[in-house]
Amino acid sequence: MNQNISDTNSKKIIETDRKWYQLSDKKIAKIYKTNLSIGLTEQEATERLKKYGPNCLPSSKKPNIFVIFLKTFLDPLCIIMALAGLITIIAGIINQEMSIPDVAGLCIIGLIIITNSLISTYQEIKSMNYISSLGNKEEILISVLRDGVIKQVNVEFLVPGDVVYSKLGEFIPADLRIVDQSVLKIDESSLTGESEPVEKSAEVIKEDNLVISDQKNIAFMSTMILEGKLVGLVLNTGLDSEIGKIASKITTHKTNRTPLEKKIKALTIRIGIIALIFGALLLAFSLFIRDELPVALQAWNTLLLLAVSAAISVIPESLTIIVKLCMMIATKKMDKNNVQVKNPKSIETLGNVNVICSDKTGTLTQNKMHVDQFFVDFKYHPNPSQITKNKHFLTAFALCNDAITNPDNQILGGATEVAIVKFLEQQKINYLNLKKLYPRVDEIPFDSKRKMMTTVHKNKNHFTSYTKGAFDYLLANSTQKIIDGEISALTAEDRTTIENQAFEFARKGMRVLGIAFKNLKSLDDEYENDLIFIGAVAIIDPPRPEVKEAIKTANDAGVRVVMITGDHKITAQEIAQRLGIYTEKYNQVITGAEIDTLSQEELSEKIKSTNVFARVSPEHKAVIVKLLQEQKNIVAMTGDGINDTPSIVKADVGIAMGISGTEVTREVSDVILKDDNFKSIVYGVRAGRNVYEKIKYSISFLIAANISQVLTILFILLVNKGVALNSVNILFHIFVIETIVAIPIGMGYDRKGVMWNPPPSHKKESLLKGIKMQIIITTTLSSLFAILNYEFAKFFTDNDILAQEFGKTGVYISIMFAPIVYSFLYNNFFLPINQKGLLIKKKEKFILNKRLLIFSFLALFLAIITLVPVEQINKFFDFSTIGLPAGLIAIFVTNTILTILSIWLTYQGYIKVKNWWWNKKSHEK
Ligand code: ATP
Repeated sequence: MNQNISDTNSKKIIETDRKWYQLSDKKIAKIYKTNLSIGLTEQEATERLKKYGPNCLPSSKKPNIFVIFLKTFLDPLCIIMALAGLITIIAGIINQEMSIPDVAGLCIIGLIIITNSLISTYQEIKSMNYISSLGNKEEILISVLRDGVIKQVNVEFLVPGDVVYSKLGEFIPADLRIVDQSVLKIDESSLTGESEPVEKSAEVIKEDNLVISDQKNIAFMSTMILEGKLVGLVLNTGLDSEIGKIASKITTHKTNRTPLEKKIKALTIRIGIIALIFGALLLAFSLFIRDELPVALQAWNTLLLLAVSAAISVIPESLTIIVKLCMMIATKKMDKNNVQVKNPKSIETLGNVNVICSDKTGTLTQNKMHVDQFFVDFKYHPNPSQITKNKHFLTAFALCNDAITNPDNQILGGATEVAIVKFLEQQKINYLNLKKLYPRVDEIPFDSKRKMMTTVHKNKNHFTSYTKGAFDYLLANSTQKIIDGEISALTAEDRTTIENQAFEFARKGMRVLGIAFKNLKSLDDEYENDLIFIGAVAIIDPPRPEVKEAIKTANDAGVRVVMITGDHKITAQEIAQRLGIYTEKYNQVITGAEIDTLSQEELSEKIKSTNVFARVSPEHKAVIVKLLQEQKNIVAMTGDGINDTPSIVKADVGIAMGISGTEVTREVSDVILKDDNFKSIVYGVRAGRNVYEKIKYSISFLIAANISQVLTILFILLVNKGVALNSVNILFHIFVIETIVAIPIGMGYDRKGVMWNPPPSHKKESLLKGIKMQIIITTTLSSLFAILNYEFAKFFTDNDILAQEFGKTGVYISIMFAPIVYSFLYNNFFLPINQKGLLIKKKEKFILNKRLLIFSFLALFLAIITLVPVEQINKFFDFSTIGLPAGLIAIFVTNTILTILSIWLTYQGYIKVKNWWWNKKSHEK
């Protein structure tokens, strides 16, 4: 039943899901008891605010820190560890005894669980604080008609029935029925996910059952005006609005996993299953040969703990911590290098990007503009300080200009306009005086679609409009010309003369800005047609010197750079050519007009060989991104204006300009370029790739170290009926030593060479791609030498028990020391390889990672002190180094060195063979 607003009870009384789009605004106003030309009274608005509540969306509930801490224990790693600990305790209770190493094992398990939980809690709190800092917005004021007066009201106090005014760049404050509008385009992507702007109107719609995107006469809360303005009647506020209905369902704090985290989780689960099978086998087999084992190991609780620890050791648990650290360090480093990442997910995506779409002005160029040449009275002037007699030309530029001079005499404004003011100064024109003399009475601001701006000025009792803009657009709107004060028709020949001159400027890479005027009969006249062409200035905006190199780096890295500009085709082509964007392979320029006329298929085909898009408007950017993505590219897109938001949202990585960008663009983007510089984007790509590569190194290292340890245990158990490492050694090694060693791999230096390879291709690409051989070589050789150590011990004593003890020490040394040293290889000598053979095209100079060196030595020191013959420590780690023959020590040390050398040499050999094979195959082709 349709309830009416006049039912004044304390409940909400407006039917929120009525089909308002089918009713006329007058009818709705009647239902809402409001007057479209006066609005609500303040008193009624206050009453309604009590009934409907504030117009805001629920903020996500911030969970308590203690709850976050407790939740971290639900992590699969913690559960496995806790289970392992529990099994040990229960087994100890049943058996009524627990050895010192068992207790030590339990202590380590406890330590790991607590450390993991503390790190995870810290991470969670940090990211929550960041998210809530994003939500700390300033008070938003909305223009509302109340008591017949337009007032500024806090958005939270809007009520159903209010009449509001919204304009370009503003968010729609509530669900509104559009009452009046100019050309109106709204970005509804926040609500519908559709990035194409939607055209809206106030017309009643007859159809039934329309989805949100088809309700063209309703503007929805949180969407944004990309073009035009509107007057609207508030239908629903807060939770009753369409976005409110969605938001109320998703208010709880939720952290999304990044693709990398998902991949790691999937990998860990797969390895976990293998670990379980392995643990079960180990337990079954050790119980089977229990009587043949040393007495100390015969207790079934000890064997159980051994199986559980060995199984746990297969899983690369430290990886989660390493990934988090890598991301944290990368975010900090990127921030220092002017790339502010709002979401760690973007670091990964940046590394995968293979197309960067960049604006020209300010990003590829310096945005330090100056007028270099000009054209007036159909005469070319090669020098800006060559004074022209045509004062009308200069007055027009002075009046049609938004730059201002502050009390410190600094000229503030857009770079184009500041350049013009400086040119006027060279021409000895005081533009401020002119502005006072001929006050501005109306204007049509510049927009990147019309590529022009117009101001209207009063001169005694008549009005003159001045239009400045892109010369081709201006020329298209001009029908007359003025030469030496004489106005005459603009002939086809004149147009050719002007165009030829403008093309001449453009070929030098200059942007050409024309100026025209019109004597108006009244302010009701059309301002921007039938213009009288006066002349043009050519403005130089040189490319940033560092950009050419950055583009080359990007190209070498398999990343295509696409220039998208509002500037003229010829100017764009010239600048693109200088920067290496317009090349033999990409030798076309597409204009916005062509995008409008070509079919999607034709455009899609053309885009494959085009890197320069000129005279485009922001809407075209979204089309370009869409087509590039359809061609399986991962696209980064820059933007600064409000109108760029759809393309920024659509791109895989949306990059906003920190200096020239608007607040809205920065809000919707993934990355903010603090210095607006293209070079920083390339830095971001490099940082993203380095993070990915380091995580791969860490995975390779951890898997190799873990599996070699397990293989050694298994081999010695099966062949020698001995236990090479006990639970405490395993746990200490995987959680303390390996983590300490693996962390610096993740923190290592960024490698320049990552930019000599193609991008790590697909979202679904396996994490093990390119590192399988590293893992196989390292695993095989390190377990081989560890086993050899064990076997050699037999030759130094006839006593079986002593041989066992010596052997164990040998395995421990090998398993513990070798990874500490071969971890160097990962950051210094190993390089990932793809299926196409060796990825390094040039010899890369390695910087020895000093940080890694210090960390590794600390780890080594730690390992040594656990081995020194201090009885207490030995007992704790179930060792005995007492009486170890010097010859055996020499063999252990030699074997450890051989482990590292053999891994390195085998890997180098593998690279050579693979390269040779690849070259051979390429030649055959
Ligand atoms: P980008 O390369 O970053 O897209 P752009 O400045 O070339 O930047 P727009 O700002 O859309 O792109 O400008 C398009 C064209 O409009 C310019 O080439 C210039 O001819 C004209 N133009 C730019 N600024 C003004 C202005 N303030 N007044 C009049 N015309 C302008």
